[in-house]
Amino acid sequence: MNLPDDFIFSQSSLQDYVDCPRRFQLRYLLKQRWPAPQVDDMLEFEHHMEQGETFHHLVHQHLVGIPADILAARITDPDLQRWFATYLKNGLQDVPARRRPESTLTVPLGDHLLLAKFDLLAVEPNGRALILDWKTGKHMPRAENLARRLQTVVYRYVLATGGSHLNGGKPVAPENIEMIYWYADHDGATLRFPYDAAGYAADRDYLLQLVDEINTRPDFPLTTDERRCRYCVYRSLNNRGVEAGSISEWDENNALELDMDDFSLDIEQIAEIEF
Ligand code: SF4
Repeated sequence: MNLPDDFIFSQSSLQDYVDCPRRFQLRYLLKQRWPAPQVDDMLEFEHHMEQGETFHHLVHQHLVGIPADILAARITDPDLQRWFATYLKNGLQDVPARRRPESTLTVPLGDHLLLAKFDLLAVEPNGRALILDWKTGKHMPRAENLARRLQTVVYRYVLATGGSHLNGGKPVAPENIEMIYWYADHDGATLRFPYDAAGYAADRDYLLQLVDEINTRPDFPLTTDERRCRYCVYRSLNNRGVEAGSISEWDENNALELDMDDFSLDIEQIAEIEF
């Protein structure tokens, strides 16, 4: 058994594993500090992270009842002004009224737990169950790539498995679940991923297989796809290059922003490291 008993999986740790087993080992099993910057222009990178974090915070404040005009009056960054105006225009279009911003659900996964932190859950008892995720990146990924991302897999699976308290005590039927990525920098365009029972069963098998693999494998090899190393903080440890990838291509190369919780973690860790 490679994992400690109290290990809690998340979409980002599972994505790390799928992208590169060695990265998972370094980050979660060995808790290796980060020896290299993720991109070439760290100031710009941190600015982008902070913008995303602030946008999430603004939306959360709005969803818990602070009037939009009060929030809007405080914004000075032009990107944030535009994103927030877009959110007010269409971010909640057709979203059920029972809204739970920044909700966390944890469900069993094998002998471990799987945690999901949702930007917004909107569940109508016995009706639609929407998962909304706010994105502030410049690049919209292709839908077929996003469908395979662990965030899409994990979020829908966790809601179907552990959402009964939101649904009058009954499990949320997979057919009622839809995951929606909403893109602030694209005038609120969305990518939508409905769910069904067959998808739920396939996801359960896939997630359990990943956990079993992680727990039983004798070693954690480096990814064979060296493009992943350009933006990986462990590249100098693995002789996979010294130069950081360009921030101008980062969003596109990652095809996604990282989860906002990763952003906070990354900045905290980076701040402690002297380059
Ligand atoms: S540098 Fe490459 S091989 Fe090493 S952990 Fe990162 S992605 Fe994996």
